[in-house]
Amino acid sequence: MIMSLNQSVLICDQVNPILKEILDKNGLKVTYEPEITPEQLAEKIGNYEVIVVRSRTKIVKELVEKAAKCQIIARVGVGLDNIDQDAAKAKNIRVINAVEGAITAVAELVIGLMLSMAREIPRVDREIRNGNWIKKEMMGSELKGKYLGIIGLGNIGKRLGRLARALNMNIIGYDAVPIDEEFSKEVGLMKSDLDTLLASSDYVSLHVPLLDSTKHMINAEKLRLMKKTAHIVNTSRGGVIDEDALYNALKDGNLESAALDVFEVEPATGNKLVNLPNFIATPHIGAQTKEAQSLAANVIAEKIIQLLRGVI
Ligand code: NAD
Repeated sequence: MIMSLNQSVLICDQVNPILKEILDKNGLKVTYEPEITPEQLAEKIGNYEVIVVRSRTKIVKELVEKAAKCQIIARVGVGLDNIDQDAAKAKNIRVINAVEGAITAVAELVIGLMLSMAREIPRVDREIRNGNWIKKEMMGSELKGKYLGIIGLGNIGKRLGRLARALNMNIIGYDAVPIDEEFSKEVGLMKSDLDTLLASSDYVSLHVPLLDSTKHMINAEKLRLMKKTAHIVNTSRGGVIDEDALYNALKDGNLESAALDVFEVEPATGNKLVNLPNFIATPHIGAQTKEAQSLAANVIAEKIIQLLRGVI
């Protein structure tokens, strides 16, 4: 018989209920505080062996230092930029995430955003609500045959490549590490350096983590390399694109349109980009599907249990 676990878990953000159910079943004492403030967390963090977050809660160094009993910090998602990993490592705390959850959700959102730009779906929807039937002035374009440049061919970048290939797009790829050969053959990938990718693509989509090396990797100089008719999508992390440079490129007609799911500062409700007609925004919903959240919650629950049992 497997022994029941008895550690305490604090869930700090809103997560799929399946996570708590699985942890409860295994005997863990779970506290669910999806609205906990940083001050409240600072007071309580010392009482828990496991801390679970999504993206709202930032596990900064000062919090890690107060986490006297903590063994695991778990992110129900992919990016770990809201957790001070160096501070956690220094205290021997394992930091875990769920890379599997978001792959399809984010890749499908990119296809949706590319189609939204190609056919100006958000704009025509707004017009019709205002009583305007603007059929005659609308002339969209198709994705078929267009060149899609994917920056970062990890889990999400590759899924996007496969979906876009199914739409008969041509795929150009750039990554800091060698790209999977089997995938490259499957989609007929044209490997490229960053500048050539930017200059050759009709659509560019970013799928890199936010690191010192990727901060503002798309800046004014890189945007100048792109075709005036090109479109850019960012569903990775806000800081990867310099938003001031993007704003100027869109405003001056040096780029046809852009769609961002992620921003340098979130919530991005006051962001000046949203005043531009050739800009589409979504509020960081890349992984916000029922399927992605349920998969991520299951993966994280299993990983916590296995780690506490010493299996992995
Ligand atoms: P991944 O780790 O599987 O892939 C990232 C790829 O980027 C890797 O192949 C890596 O080699 C490459 N890379 C790293 N630095 C690079 C550089 N300087 N130049 C070129 N390539 C570089 O990650 P993933 O699961 O595909 O996720 C990609 C991004 O999507 C991450 O930033 C993640 O945080 C983000 N994400 C966003 C959402 C959302 O809600 N919008 C959801 C999930 C993930």
